[in-house]
Amino acid sequence: MQSAPQPQPGILDIALYQGGASKVAGHSDVLKLSSNENPHGAPASAQAAAAEAAAAMHLYPNTDHAGLRAKIAEVHGVEAERIICGVGSDEIIHWLCQAYVGPGDEVLHPEYGFLMYPISTRAAGGAPVAVGERNRTVDVDAMLAAATERTKLVFIANPANPTGTFLGGQDVVRLADGLPDGCLLVMDGAYAEYVEDFDGGLGLAGARQNVFVTRTFSKMYGLGGMRVGWGYGPQEVIDVLNRLRGPFNLSNVALAAAEAAMADRAFVDRCLADNTTQRTRLIDGLRDLGLGCDRSEANFVLARFADEDEALACDAFLKSQGIIVRHVAAYGLPHCLRMTVGDDAGTTRLLDALGTWRAA
Ligand SMILES: *Cc1c(COP(=O)(O)O)cnc(C)c1O
Repeated sequence: MQSAPQPQPGILDIALYQGGASKVAGHSDVLKLSSNENPHGAPASAQAAAAEAAAAMHLYPNTDHAGLRAKIAEVHGVEAERIICGVGSDEIIHWLCQAYVGPGDEVLHPEYGFLMYPISTRAAGGAPVAVGERNRTVDVDAMLAAATERTKLVFIANPANPTGTFLGGQDVVRLADGLPDGCLLVMDGAYAEYVEDFDGGLGLAGARQNVFVTRTFSKMYGLGGMRVGWGYGPQEVIDVLNRLRGPFNLSNVALAAAEAAMADRAFVDRCLADNTTQRTRLIDGLRDLGLGCDRSEANFVLARFADEDEALACDAFLKSQGIIVRHVAAYGLPHCLRMTVGDDAGTTRLLDALGTWRAA
């Protein structure tokens, strides 16, 4: 009898991505703060647009995403021709690796970087290289020192997940300036909307040949379940990625929801203001309890405990109260819990539970 086929090199080295849990046995009113989802849900405008589009689900969606790209271009003041839309930004990260990385190539990411970077790198046969951070923040000098002729991509999320820290504009430019020729800096802007007066690197990506930006509808826009992301960068890169893109990668329902959400600036403004308020409450509350917590520019905070045992004990107590946060051991931070910023009631419930745990 024949044996099962062997996959390409690298694929069996991939550690499966673990999503945030969403259920706790015995609790009907679970507060899920483990996946950085929008506590305000999806905008009503997007829900209505999706429902209308669903009535035409027997029709193939358009393949050029022209309507969504035009709306993104209008809101962000960028060129629609240089936008590509994917099934979440995860798909765009995947295309970048498929297009530019192969056996013998390296991809740099910060030591606590998003797990999709090494996953997609290995899927393409390349070698992910984790570069040390400084105080849980991207270390530009270490990144530049690690970049070689073999380095094809450099991924940084700004703000970063799971640390929430931010790299300033001058540091980003220094990184882009110092990379070897032919190496692309990918700025993952999944949380860029949460930083006031920050373009997520779109200006750089518009002006340079070696910077590419990814963005998502999964966080601020409240559409994590719809799976829509987009990328922006040099025309040459967009043209390459479009060859890998499936012609019907986004459903008409997803396209309609995303276009409506992008147009709904009032929703974004409300969510931004509330996130800033609740994030400050949460960080102050954690510090009052004697826990370490960096300044965060995202919609989550990283709470640091004395050690992994203490982090696990707190995690277990929160679960017993129906609150799910994320133990980030898989990111090399076993003594930390990442907590999504909730709405006002959610933040109160989390802080009360943390206070009870601390007092016990
Ligand atoms: C949540 C997140 C994304 C978004 O992924 P999607 O596939 O667009 O849902 C991308 N990068 C980082 C760092 C994230 O935390």
